[in-house]
Amino acid sequence: MFEQLYLHQKHFSLQLRKDPVEIRLEHLKNLELMIDAHQKDFVEALKNDFAKPEMETLTSEIYPLLIEIRHAQKQLRQWMTAEKVSAPLFLKGTQNFIHYEPRGVCLIIAPWNYPLFLTLGPMISAIAAGNTVVLKPSELASHTSALLARLIKATFAEEHITVVEGGVENTQALLKLPFDHIFFTGSTTVGKIVMEAAAKNLSSVTLELGGKSPTIVDITADLNLAATKIIWAKFLNAGQTCVAPDYLFVQESVYSQFIAALRENLNRIYGKTPEARKANKDFARIISNKHTTRLKEMLEDSLANEGQILYGGDIDVTANFLAPTVIDNVDVHSRLMQEEIFGPILPIMKYKDFSEVIHFINERPKPLALYIYSHSEMNIEQLTRETSSGGLVINDSVIHLANGYLPFGGVGDSGMGNCHGIHGFRTFSHAKGILRQSWGAKLLGMIYPPYTSQKLEI
Ligand code: NAD
Repeated sequence: MFEQLYLHQKHFSLQLRKDPVEIRLEHLKNLELMIDAHQKDFVEALKNDFAKPEMETLTSEIYPLLIEIRHAQKQLRQWMTAEKVSAPLFLKGTQNFIHYEPRGVCLIIAPWNYPLFLTLGPMISAIAAGNTVVLKPSELASHTSALLARLIKATFAEEHITVVEGGVENTQALLKLPFDHIFFTGSTTVGKIVMEAAAKNLSSVTLELGGKSPTIVDITADLNLAATKIIWAKFLNAGQTCVAPDYLFVQESVYSQFIAALRENLNRIYGKTPEARKANKDFARIISNKHTTRLKEMLEDSLANEGQILYGGDIDVTANFLAPTVIDNVDVHSRLMQEEIFGPILPIMKYKDFSEVIHFINERPKPLALYIYSHSEMNIEQLTRETSSGGLVINDSVIHLANGYLPFGGVGDSGMGNCHGIHGFRTFSHAKGILRQSWGAKLLGMIYPPYTSQKLEI
């Protein structure tokens, strides 16, 4: 179905290998100009997809993209320069380098939740590394997908970058082709399907997956500040963020104080009544009826198991609306604590001893992100050393995504491989080891046959 497209890109990828850095910089500049010129169109498309507030589109999609693309343009010469490495004594006289070559033809499969940042973000790295790209946006954010298809077509040659729209059947058809690299962002379940398909062609893969990101508030935290930051990180994009705090662990002696701070801030930001919350324009909608129903069922399941709503809980499935919701007394066996929530529901649990939290996290799949609000160096150190997660943020949430110098990616169930900055460039490159022997030099004579007994005695 997409064989012709693949073959054209394969042919063009050989041409791209010959291009100097200036040409790659030109492609990046063109992309930057395109994003910059169409900011309003992107804001509009995301509003149509799930009523994403303009401020959130700017701060969590467009500005991070512009930062990433400018960073890539600044650093690209250095990233592309072959890295000189040393050699052991017996290879004395050789010169050794790591050369980052393009992988070739790459497939980028994106989810719907940040339909701009998670399509164009990896694409920046792929272009910087000298690849061709087939970009498959999610069909669920259909306005953004259509806009991307139109703008990419107007900006790049088809054999360089092409957007393939459509549903799962198109993704599955693409996955049959022998791409040199597949960069997938989405759920852990579909990540496994992608990896299985990639194995048939031995395509290398990067999997940016999901999961439950725990957030800890200990006794030493600044409670009001922690509440403000957690509310932003959780309810941004209506909770449909891969690194959103999934659930909270609060030390029991500050629990009621923290809940009071949380409630006060929620009332101030989203309002005190269901009417006020529904009318609030600073809060996005759920992407589809299917997902709203899923969240409603998760909430009902928790309430049936003695969960108690502390804030929100109002739902209108036909309008894809679920208010920012905080719930406590959750049963750890309920769906809310077993599945990734991926919506505006925040379960809160108490803990007594910090080691309980460490144990709880280590008993479960490795999270994509882990957050702690604390001034206790001992707790921070213990969490850093004794748990495994894609990333760790101390006294904030989500913002590690915005630092292009940090690798961003999951571990175990939350994924494999990294993106952003040099880490993204290297993801889309093959690190080729090059050894150059000085002309006429020979290794120690003993390695060449005949293997005489005299040589063995040395
Ligand atoms: P999803 O896995 O349902 O879909 C992702 C992409 O895969 C979409 O383009 C979709 O069309 C395609 N797809 C779906 N089913 C498929 C199948 N059977 N075969 C082939 N392709 C298929 O994920 P989603 O609902 O779009 O996004 C939400 C998930 O993504 C959450 O789990 C979230 O945590 C995760 N996520 C991770 C990151 C990250 O950076 N790690 C970022 C955003 C979202």
